[in-house]
Amino acid sequence: MGQTAVIILGGGLAGITSALHLTRAGVACAVIERKRYPFHRVCGEYISNEVLPYLHELRVDPFELGPSRISRFQLTSTNGRSVIMPLDLGGFGISRYAFDYFLYQKAVSAGVTFYLESEVKKIVFGRDEFLVETEKGSLTSPVVIGAFGKRSHIDYQLSRKFLQSRSPYVGVKYHIRLRGFPNDLIALHNFELGYCGISHVEDNKLNLCYLTHRDHLRRYRSVKTMEEQILCQNPFLKSILNDSEFLTEAETINEVTFEAKSPVEQHILMAGDAAGMITPLCGNGMAMAIHGAKMVSEHILKFLNQPGYSRQQMESDYAKAWEQQFAQRLWIGRRVQRLFGSSTASNFAVDLARHLPTAANWMMRQTHGKPF
Ligand SMILES: Cc1cc2nc3c(=O)[nH]c(=O)nc-3n(C[C@H](O)[C@H](O)[C@H](O)COP(=O)(O)OP(=O)(O)OC[C@H]3O[C@@H](n4cnc5c(N)ncnc54)[C@H](O)[C@@H]3O)c2cc1C
Repeated sequence: MGQTAVIILGGGLAGITSALHLTRAGVACAVIERKRYPFHRVCGEYISNEVLPYLHELRVDPFELGPSRISRFQLTSTNGRSVIMPLDLGGFGISRYAFDYFLYQKAVSAGVTFYLESEVKKIVFGRDEFLVETEKGSLTSPVVIGAFGKRSHIDYQLSRKFLQSRSPYVGVKYHIRLRGFPNDLIALHNFELGYCGISHVEDNKLNLCYLTHRDHLRRYRSVKTMEEQILCQNPFLKSILNDSEFLTEAETINEVTFEAKSPVEQHILMAGDAAGMITPLCGNGMAMAIHGAKMVSEHILKFLNQPGYSRQQMESDYAKAWEQQFAQRLWIGRRVQRLFGSSTASNFAVDLARHLPTAANWMMRQTHGKPF
Protein backbone atom coordinates (compact mmCIF):
# COMPACT_ATOMS: atom_id res chain seq x y z
CA MET A 1 0.00 0.00 0.00
CA GLY A 2 3.00 2.34 0.50
CA GLN A 3 3.67 5.51 2.48
CA THR A 4 1.68 8.62 3.41
CA ALA A 5 1.93 11.54 5.87
CA VAL A 6 -1.05 10.58 8.04
CA ILE A 7 -2.87 7.26 8.37
CA ILE A 8 -6.37 7.36 9.82
CA LEU A 9 -7.69 4.16 11.36
CA GLY A 10 -11.48 4.11 10.79
CA GLY A 11 -13.68 6.16 8.49
CA GLY A 12 -16.54 7.36 10.69
CA LEU A 13 -17.20 11.04 11.42
CA ALA A 14 -13.92 11.64 13.26
CA GLY A 15 -11.89 9.80 10.62
CA ILE A 16 -13.35 11.33 7.46
CA THR A 17 -13.52 14.85 8.92
CA SER A 18 -9.87 14.85 9.99
CA ALA A 19 -8.88 13.44 6.57
CA LEU A 20 -10.75 16.27 4.88
CA HIS A 21 -9.21 18.93 7.16
CA LEU A 22 -5.64 17.66 6.70
CA THR A 23 -5.93 17.09 2.95
CA ARG A 24 -7.35 20.58 2.44
CA ALA A 25 -4.26 21.84 4.32
CA GLY A 26 -1.99 19.99 1.85
CA VAL A 27 -1.20 16.87 3.90
CA ALA A 28 -1.47 13.45 2.22
CA CYS A 29 -3.90 11.22 4.15
CA ALA A 30 -5.06 7.64 3.91
CA VAL A 31 -8.17 6.33 5.65
CA ILE A 32 -8.44 2.61 6.35
CA GLU A 33 -12.08 1.57 6.82
CA ARG A 34 -13.32 -1.98 7.26
CA LYS A 35 -16.69 -1.37 5.54
CA ARG A 36 -17.80 0.13 2.20
CA TYR A 37 -19.98 3.28 2.06
CA PRO A 38 -22.87 3.81 2.30
CA PHE A 39 -23.85 1.75 5.33
CA HIS A 40 -26.11 2.03 8.37
CA ARG A 41 -24.79 2.58 11.89
CA VAL A 42 -26.42 2.38 15.30
CA CYS A 43 -26.81 6.08 16.11
CA GLY A 44 -29.65 8.46 17.01
CA GLU A 45 -28.57 10.69 14.07
CA TYR A 46 -29.30 13.99 15.84
CA ILE A 47 -26.36 16.41 15.41
CA SER A 48 -25.97 19.51 17.53
CA ASN A 49 -25.78 22.77 15.55
CA GLU A 50 -22.46 23.48 17.27
CA VAL A 51 -20.74 21.75 14.30
CA LEU A 52 -22.03 24.14 11.64
CA PRO A 53 -19.28 26.85 11.59
CA TYR A 54 -16.54 24.20 11.24
CA LEU A 55 -18.41 22.20 8.60
CA HIS A 56 -18.85 25.40 6.61
CA GLU A 57 -15.10 26.09 6.95
CA LEU A 58 -14.54 22.65 5.42
CA ARG A 59 -17.01 23.54 2.65
CA VAL A 60 -19.45 20.88 3.81
CA ASP A 61 -23.12 21.88 3.90
CA PRO A 62 -25.21 19.11 5.49
CA PHE A 63 -28.39 21.00 4.53
CA GLU A 64 -27.81 19.88 0.92
CA LEU A 65 -29.05 16.49 2.16
CA GLY A 66 -32.39 17.87 3.39
CA PRO A 67 -32.06 17.03 7.11
CA SER A 68 -34.80 17.87 9.62
CA ARG A 69 -34.20 20.95 11.80
CA ILE A 70 -34.75 20.18 15.46
CA SER A 71 -35.45 22.79 18.12
CA ARG A 72 -37.59 21.11 20.81
CA PHE A 73 -36.94 18.26 23.22
CA GLN A 74 -39.52 15.95 24.81
CA LEU A 75 -38.71 13.83 27.84
CA THR A 76 -41.02 11.11 29.14
CA SER A 77 -40.69 8.95 32.25
CA THR A 78 -41.05 5.15 32.25
CA ASN A 79 -44.77 5.49 33.06
CA GLY A 80 -45.36 8.17 30.42
CA ARG A 81 -45.25 11.52 32.21
CA SER A 82 -44.03 14.08 29.72
CA VAL A 83 -42.43 17.49 29.40
CA ILE A 84 -41.40 19.47 26.30
CA MET A 85 -38.64 22.09 26.36
CA PRO A 86 -36.98 24.30 23.78
CA LEU A 87 -33.41 23.32 22.85
CA ASP A 88 -30.93 26.16 23.38
CA LEU A 89 -28.83 25.60 20.31
CA GLY A 90 -30.82 22.89 18.54
CA GLY A 91 -29.59 20.59 15.86
CA PHE A 92 -30.47 18.65 12.75
CA GLY A 93 -31.38 15.06 11.93
CA ILE A 94 -29.59 13.21 9.15
CA SER A 95 -29.00 9.49 8.65
CA ARG A 96 -25.42 8.28 8.96
CA TYR A 97 -26.09 6.30 5.79
CA ALA A 98 -26.43 9.60 3.91
CA PHE A 99 -24.12 11.85 5.94
CA ASP A 100 -21.05 9.60 6.16
CA TYR A 101 -21.36 8.82 2.44
CA PHE A 102 -21.63 12.55 1.64
CA LEU A 103 -18.49 13.28 3.70
CA TYR A 104 -16.70 10.35 2.07
CA GLN A 105 -17.48 11.73 -1.41
CA LYS A 106 -16.21 15.19 -0.36
CA ALA A 107 -13.02 13.61 0.98
CA VAL A 108 -12.45 11.58 -2.20
CA SER A 109 -12.81 14.73 -4.33
CA ALA A 110 -10.41 16.57 -2.01
CA GLY A 111 -7.81 13.84 -2.70
CA VAL A 112 -8.01 11.58 0.37
CA THR A 113 -6.96 7.97 -0.32
CA PHE A 114 -9.40 5.39 1.07
CA TYR A 115 -8.71 1.71 1.64
CA LEU A 116 -12.21 0.29 1.99
CA GLU A 117 -13.21 -3.17 3.18
CA SER A 118 -9.76 -3.24 4.81
CA GLU A 119 -9.47 -4.09 8.46
CA VAL A 120 -6.53 -2.81 10.48
CA LYS A 121 -4.86 -5.83 12.07
CA LYS A 122 -1.69 -4.49 13.66
CA ILE A 123 0.13 -1.21 14.37
CA VAL A 124 3.80 -0.98 15.24
CA PHE A 125 5.66 2.22 16.17
CA GLY A 126 9.46 2.44 15.93
CA ARG A 127 12.13 4.88 14.73
CA ASP A 128 9.62 7.72 14.59
CA GLU A 129 7.37 5.88 12.14
CA PHE A 130 4.24 3.73 12.24
CA LEU A 131 3.71 0.52 10.33
CA VAL A 132 0.00 -0.28 9.92
CA GLU A 133 -0.95 -3.73 8.67
CA THR A 134 -4.20 -4.81 7.06
CA GLU A 135 -5.07 -8.11 5.43
CA LYS A 136 -4.52 -6.39 2.05
CA GLY A 137 -1.06 -4.92 2.71
CA SER A 138 0.78 -2.45 4.91
CA LEU A 139 1.25 1.30 5.03
CA THR A 140 3.78 3.53 6.82
CA SER A 141 3.53 7.13 8.08
CA PRO A 142 4.96 9.42 10.75
CA VAL A 143 1.50 10.14 12.26
CA VAL A 144 -1.53 7.93 12.99
CA ILE A 145 -5.03 9.00 14.11
CA GLY A 146 -7.14 6.39 15.90
CA ALA A 147 -10.74 7.03 14.80
CA PHE A 148 -12.00 3.47 15.03
CA GLY A 149 -15.02 4.17 17.22
CA LYS A 150 -16.27 2.90 20.55
CA ARG A 151 -14.70 -0.57 20.52
CA SER A 152 -12.48 -2.26 17.99
CA HIS A 153 -10.03 -5.09 18.09
CA ILE A 154 -7.36 -2.35 17.73
CA ASP A 155 -8.21 -1.55 21.38
CA TYR A 156 -7.31 -5.13 22.28
CA GLN A 157 -4.06 -4.93 20.35
CA LEU A 158 -3.19 -1.79 22.31
CA SER A 159 -4.31 -3.47 25.59
CA ARG A 160 -6.38 -0.41 26.48
CA LYS A 161 -7.39 -0.16 30.12
CA PHE A 162 -11.12 0.47 29.55
CA LEU A 163 -11.48 -3.10 28.21
CA GLN A 164 -11.04 -4.44 31.75
CA SER A 165 -14.67 -3.64 32.59
CA ARG A 166 -17.55 -5.13 30.61
CA SER A 167 -20.53 -2.99 29.60
CA PRO A 168 -24.14 -4.22 29.84
CA TYR A 169 -25.48 -1.75 27.25
CA VAL A 170 -26.88 -2.81 23.88
CA GLY A 171 -27.83 -0.28 21.15
CA VAL A 172 -30.67 -0.88 18.65
CA LYS A 173 -31.67 1.31 15.71
CA TYR A 174 -34.36 1.43 12.99
CA HIS A 175 -35.52 3.82 10.33
CA ILE A 176 -39.28 4.13 10.40
CA ARG A 177 -42.17 6.12 8.99
CA LEU A 178 -44.62 7.55 11.48
CA ARG A 179 -47.41 10.02 10.79
CA GLY A 180 -47.93 13.03 12.99
CA PHE A 181 -44.56 13.13 14.73
CA PRO A 182 -43.45 16.81 14.65
CA ASN A 183 -40.49 17.60 12.41
CA ASP A 184 -38.79 19.89 14.91
CA LEU A 185 -38.95 17.53 17.91
CA ILE A 186 -36.51 15.04 19.39
CA ALA A 187 -38.11 12.80 22.02
CA LEU A 188 -36.36 10.73 24.67
CA HIS A 189 -38.63 8.07 26.17
CA ASN A 190 -37.52 6.18 29.25
CA PHE A 191 -38.18 2.52 29.87
CA GLU A 192 -36.87 0.11 32.48
CA LEU A 193 -33.03 0.12 32.30
CA GLY A 194 -32.97 2.10 29.06
CA TYR A 195 -34.13 4.99 26.90
CA CYS A 196 -35.23 5.47 23.32
CA GLY A 197 -34.71 8.52 21.10
CA ILE A 198 -36.90 9.38 18.17
CA SER A 199 -36.62 12.21 15.64
CA HIS A 200 -36.90 12.96 11.94
CA VAL A 201 -34.02 12.51 9.53
CA GLU A 202 -34.09 13.22 5.76
CA ASP A 203 -36.77 12.05 3.26
CA ASN A 204 -39.63 12.04 5.74
CA LYS A 205 -38.07 9.11 7.62
CA LEU A 206 -37.55 8.93 11.37
CA ASN A 207 -34.77 7.44 13.41
CA LEU A 208 -35.77 5.28 16.36
CA CYS A 209 -32.76 4.29 18.42
CA TYR A 210 -32.47 2.97 21.95
CA LEU A 211 -30.03 1.82 24.54
CA THR A 212 -31.12 -1.20 26.55
CA HIS A 213 -29.67 -3.66 29.05
CA ARG A 214 -28.39 -7.05 27.92
CA ASP A 215 -30.40 -8.76 30.73
CA HIS A 216 -33.65 -7.85 28.92
CA LEU A 217 -32.41 -9.53 25.75
CA ARG A 218 -31.25 -12.59 27.67
CA ARG A 219 -34.64 -12.83 29.32
CA TYR A 220 -36.85 -12.29 26.27
CA ARG A 221 -34.46 -13.79 23.70
CA SER A 222 -35.63 -11.58 20.84
CA VAL A 223 -35.55 -7.85 20.20
CA LYS A 224 -39.25 -7.80 19.23
CA THR A 225 -40.41 -9.59 22.40
CA MET A 226 -38.25 -7.33 24.54
CA GLU A 227 -39.79 -4.28 22.83
CA GLU A 228 -43.31 -5.59 23.48
CA GLN A 229 -42.60 -6.51 27.09
CA ILE A 230 -40.33 -3.67 28.21
CA LEU A 231 -40.37 -0.64 25.90
CA CYS A 232 -44.15 -0.77 25.48
CA GLN A 233 -44.63 -0.20 29.23
CA ASN A 234 -44.09 3.46 28.35
CA PRO A 235 -47.38 4.48 26.66
CA PHE A 236 -45.59 6.83 24.25
CA LEU A 237 -43.32 4.05 23.05
CA LYS A 238 -46.24 1.64 22.83
CA SER A 239 -48.09 3.84 20.38
CA ILE A 240 -44.92 4.69 18.41
CA LEU A 241 -43.92 1.03 18.05
CA ASN A 242 -47.46 -0.03 17.15
CA ASP A 243 -48.11 2.77 14.63
CA SER A 244 -44.76 2.79 12.82
CA GLU A 245 -43.87 1.33 9.47
CA PHE A 246 -40.39 -0.22 9.87
CA LEU A 247 -38.18 0.59 6.89
CA THR A 248 -35.06 -1.26 8.08
CA GLU A 249 -34.29 -4.34 10.14
CA ALA A 250 -32.94 -3.74 13.66
CA GLU A 251 -29.25 -2.75 13.61
CA THR A 252 -27.70 -3.76 16.94
CA ILE A 253 -24.41 -3.30 18.77
CA ASN A 254 -23.42 -4.60 22.16
CA GLU A 255 -20.89 -3.64 24.83
CA VAL A 256 -21.52 0.09 24.40
CA THR A 257 -19.07 1.47 26.94
CA PHE A 258 -18.75 4.92 28.51
CA GLU A 259 -15.56 4.21 30.50
CA ALA A 260 -12.89 6.92 30.47
CA LYS A 261 -10.19 6.38 27.83
CA SER A 262 -6.91 8.04 27.04
CA PRO A 263 -6.74 10.48 24.07
CA VAL A 264 -3.16 9.39 23.24
CA GLU A 265 -2.15 5.75 23.33
CA GLN A 266 1.23 4.39 22.20
CA HIS A 267 1.78 7.59 20.12
CA ILE A 268 -1.58 7.20 18.32
CA LEU A 269 -3.74 10.33 18.61
CA MET A 270 -7.30 9.23 19.30
CA ALA A 271 -10.39 11.11 18.10
CA GLY A 272 -14.15 10.55 18.40
CA ASP A 273 -15.40 7.56 20.37
CA ALA A 274 -11.91 6.00 20.31
CA ALA A 275 -10.85 8.86 22.63
CA GLY A 276 -13.99 8.72 24.80
CA MET A 277 -17.68 8.13 24.27
CA ILE A 278 -20.39 10.34 25.75
CA THR A 279 -23.68 8.70 26.78
CA PRO A 280 -26.09 8.83 23.80
CA LEU A 281 -28.85 10.59 25.76
CA CYS A 282 -26.71 13.76 25.50
CA GLY A 283 -26.98 13.68 21.69
CA ASN A 284 -23.46 15.05 21.43
CA GLY A 285 -21.19 12.15 20.30
CA MET A 286 -21.28 13.13 16.63
CA ALA A 287 -20.46 16.77 17.41
CA MET A 288 -17.63 15.61 19.67
CA ALA A 289 -16.26 13.35 16.92
CA ILE A 290 -16.26 16.29 14.48
CA HIS A 291 -14.79 18.69 17.06
CA GLY A 292 -12.15 16.10 17.99
CA ALA A 293 -11.22 15.82 14.30
CA LYS A 294 -10.64 19.57 14.17
CA MET A 295 -8.47 19.53 17.28
CA VAL A 296 -6.37 16.54 16.26
CA SER A 297 -5.82 17.97 12.77
CA GLU A 298 -4.65 21.33 14.16
CA HIS A 299 -2.11 19.63 16.43
CA ILE A 300 -0.83 17.42 13.60
CA LEU A 301 -0.44 20.41 11.27
CA LYS A 302 1.62 22.19 13.91
CA PHE A 303 3.81 19.08 14.32
CA LEU A 304 4.33 18.64 10.58
CA ASN A 305 4.88 22.32 9.77
CA GLN A 306 6.55 23.94 12.77
CA PRO A 307 10.25 23.17 13.17
CA GLY A 308 11.18 22.31 16.77
CA TYR A 309 7.64 21.28 17.79
CA SER A 310 8.30 17.72 18.91
CA ARG A 311 6.12 14.63 18.83
CA GLN A 312 6.17 14.58 22.63
CA GLN A 313 4.98 18.18 22.74
CA MET A 314 2.22 17.47 20.22
CA GLU A 315 1.00 14.44 22.19
CA SER A 316 0.97 16.24 25.51
CA ASP A 317 -0.66 19.41 24.10
CA TYR A 318 -3.33 17.37 22.32
CA ALA A 319 -4.09 15.28 25.42
CA LYS A 320 -4.41 18.45 27.52
CA ALA A 321 -6.62 20.22 24.97
CA TRP A 322 -8.81 17.12 24.61
CA GLU A 323 -9.30 16.76 28.38
CA GLN A 324 -10.08 20.46 28.72
CA GLN A 325 -12.68 20.38 25.96
CA PHE A 326 -14.40 17.03 26.62
CA ALA A 327 -13.58 15.38 29.98
CA GLN A 328 -16.18 17.26 32.03
CA ARG A 329 -18.89 16.70 29.39
CA LEU A 330 -18.25 12.95 29.49
CA TRP A 331 -18.29 12.89 33.29
CA ILE A 332 -21.58 14.81 33.48
CA GLY A 333 -23.06 12.58 30.76
CA ARG A 334 -22.31 9.50 32.88
CA ARG A 335 -23.97 11.15 35.92
CA VAL A 336 -27.04 12.34 33.99
CA GLN A 337 -27.51 8.84 32.59
CA ARG A 338 -28.31 7.73 36.17
CA LEU A 339 -31.53 9.77 35.94
CA PHE A 340 -32.68 7.52 33.10
CA GLY A 341 -34.05 4.02 32.92
CA SER A 342 -35.70 3.89 36.34
CA SER A 343 -39.20 4.92 37.30
CA THR A 344 -38.24 7.11 40.28
CA ALA A 345 -35.31 8.82 38.61
CA SER A 346 -37.05 9.43 35.29
CA ASN A 347 -40.13 10.89 37.05
CA PHE A 348 -37.77 13.09 39.07
CA ALA A 349 -36.12 14.26 35.81
CA VAL A 350 -39.51 15.12 34.28
CA ASP A 351 -40.55 16.99 37.45
CA LEU A 352 -37.26 18.88 37.49
CA ALA A 353 -37.75 19.95 33.87
CA ARG A 354 -41.38 20.98 34.56
CA HIS A 355 -40.80 22.96 37.73
CA LEU A 356 -37.20 24.13 37.32
CA PRO A 357 -36.71 24.52 33.58
CA THR A 358 -33.63 26.72 34.06
CA ALA A 359 -31.91 23.92 36.05
CA ALA A 360 -32.83 21.37 33.37
CA ASN A 361 -31.51 23.69 30.65
CA TRP A 362 -28.32 24.24 32.60
CA MET A 363 -27.83 20.48 32.86
CA MET A 364 -28.37 20.05 29.11
CA ARG A 365 -25.87 22.81 28.36
CA GLN A 366 -23.22 20.99 30.42
CA THR A 367 -23.38 18.00 28.06
CA HIS A 368 -23.00 20.14 24.92
CA GLY A 369 -20.22 22.31 23.57
CA LYS A 370 -20.32 25.77 22.03
CA PRO A 371 -20.28 26.37 18.27
CA PHE A 372 -16.71 25.81 17.03
C1 LIG B 1 -27.42 3.97 20.73
C2 LIG B 1 -26.62 5.18 20.33
C3 LIG B 1 -27.26 6.35 19.95
C4 LIG B 1 -26.51 7.49 19.62
N1 LIG B 1 -27.17 8.63 19.26
C5 LIG B 1 -26.47 9.75 18.97
C6 LIG B 1 -27.12 10.96 18.58
O1 LIG B 1 -28.34 11.02 18.40
N2 LIG B 1 -26.36 12.07 18.38
C7 LIG B 1 -25.01 12.06 18.52
O2 LIG B 1 -24.38 13.12 18.35
N3 LIG B 1 -24.35 10.92 18.85
C8 LIG B 1 -25.03 9.77 19.07
N4 LIG B 1 -24.38 8.62 19.37
C9 LIG B 1 -22.91 8.64 19.39
C10 LIG B 1 -22.30 8.65 17.98
O3 LIG B 1 -22.86 7.62 17.20
C11 LIG B 1 -20.80 8.47 18.06
O4 LIG B 1 -20.27 9.31 19.06
C12 LIG B 1 -20.11 8.79 16.73
O5 LIG B 1 -20.54 7.89 15.75
C13 LIG B 1 -18.60 8.68 16.88
O6 LIG B 1 -17.98 8.79 15.62
P1 LIG B 1 -16.56 8.10 15.39
O7 LIG B 1 -16.08 8.61 14.08
O8 LIG B 1 -15.72 8.24 16.58
O9 LIG B 1 -16.87 6.52 15.30
P2 LIG B 1 -17.73 5.70 14.27
O10 LIG B 1 -18.71 6.56 13.58
O11 LIG B 1 -18.22 4.50 15.03
O12 LIG B 1 -16.65 5.22 13.18
C14 LIG B 1 -15.62 4.31 13.48
C15 LIG B 1 -15.23 3.60 12.18
O13 LIG B 1 -14.06 2.80 12.39
C16 LIG B 1 -14.19 1.60 11.65
N5 LIG B 1 -13.30 0.59 12.25
C17 LIG B 1 -13.34 0.07 13.50
N6 LIG B 1 -12.35 -0.84 13.66
C18 LIG B 1 -11.66 -0.87 12.49
C19 LIG B 1 -10.54 -1.61 12.04
N7 LIG B 1 -9.90 -2.49 12.82
N8 LIG B 1 -10.10 -1.42 10.77
C20 LIG B 1 -10.71 -0.51 9.95
N9 LIG B 1 -11.79 0.20 10.32
C21 LIG B 1 -12.26 0.04 11.58
C22 LIG B 1 -15.68 1.26 11.77
O14 LIG B 1 -16.12 0.40 10.73
C23 LIG B 1 -16.32 2.64 11.69
O15 LIG B 1 -16.69 2.99 10.37
C24 LIG B 1 -25.09 7.45 19.67
C25 LIG B 1 -24.44 6.26 20.00
C26 LIG B 1 -25.19 5.14 20.33
C27 LIG B 1 -24.47 3.87 20.69
